[in-house]
Amino acid sequence: MQSIKALPLDELTARLAELGEPGYRAKQIVEWLYLRRVRDFSAMSNLPVALRERLAQEFDDRPLEVVTKTGSHDTTQKFLFRLRDGQLIETVLIPASPALYGSAADRRTLCVSSQVGCAYGCKFCASGLDGWKRNLDADEIVDQLLAVEAASGERVNNIVFMGMGEPLANYENLLRAITIINAPWGPGIGARHITVSTSGIVPRIRELADQPLQIRLAISLHGATDSVRDQIMPINQKYPLEELLDACEYFRSKKKQKITFEYILIQGVNDSPDDARELAKITRRLEAKVNVIPYNSVDGLDWLRPSEPEQDEFMAVLHRGAASATIRREKGHDIAAACGQLRLQTERKIPVAADGGVN
Ligand code: SAH
Ligand code: SF4
Repeated sequence: MQSIKALPLDELTARLAELGEPGYRAKQIVEWLYLRRVRDFSAMSNLPVALRERLAQEFDDRPLEVVTKTGSHDTTQKFLFRLRDGQLIETVLIPASPALYGSAADRRTLCVSSQVGCAYGCKFCASGLDGWKRNLDADEIVDQLLAVEAASGERVNNIVFMGMGEPLANYENLLRAITIINAPWGPGIGARHITVSTSGIVPRIRELADQPLQIRLAISLHGATDSVRDQIMPINQKYPLEELLDACEYFRSKKKQKITFEYILIQGVNDSPDDARELAKITRRLEAKVNVIPYNSVDGLDWLRPSEPEQDEFMAVLHRGAASATIRREKGHDIAAACGQLRLQTERKIPVAADGGVN
């Protein structure tokens, strides 16, 4: 059954026309869903009862199920959701943090997942540890926003696709979800407040550049040379650094926003002064910004974060190279670390059966 929250207004209007309903019904429905935030058809009181029943037969309106919620109003809040087939995903709500994405006035950033698991197998990342399970549908992306706002009582004004999964590997559903999240008839989050992060799927970066929305792009760089990236990110063998940087240049030529490079600092892997100099060079060339994130340890992986003096030294070399760079040290704000790990811990406690049902 198709989910109602996967349909942009024009498609919903067309579907309702097939059911013999006038165009204004679709507007009424999206108003209930995204403005008044009701969660099921039965509460849409200005629709005839017969239509509400018909909608319930045609479309799925079930919201995401909250499994756990941790954190409080002024800290990072983490949500673990169960999907219709029993799979688990996580979403993280981060309070005001000027150093993060978007402008200093941003109040609440939501870090959303785009897939269950991840196929890209970066060596340092919890999301890929158990491989890839499936893509999220558009409604499962949109609903992370609605469900977090409902459960937290907070309004989100910034979205980053930095949860579990590789968003550009789920391109169609990603764009569909962004269309809905950005729409004036929907949650209405501005494109400049939506950041898509990728490990470097070059053709998709070019496609993203060609579509009209002014969304932001973050690149999980983590290495400023092919030899470093090859060591920790298998995708670099398919799309090596120069091809990735060319695609970034293309993106930049098409959009007004600066690109952000994410750079996790891992001891002995990518944290030398030479690495910092190479990173500065790339950053200057792309007129990008760098977000340096000290590595967060993951159960079962041996990578380490450098000491604070080592981190400071790396930043100093980066700044000497005239790179625009910030370091994100606050533990609670470490969105990336939050994503992927929570699910893994829970999944190992509550195994998901092969058929998708929870045991
Ligand atoms: N797949 C996309 C979107 C996920 S973003 C991408 O890789 O860009 C998640 C971010 O968290 C990525 O930059 C990822 O490299 C980073 N990350 C993964 N594991 C981490 C860890 N243990 N500590 C800090 N950052 C981590
Ligand atoms: Fe996947 Fe991104 Fe993690 Fe790499 S860093 S395994 S692409 S989620």
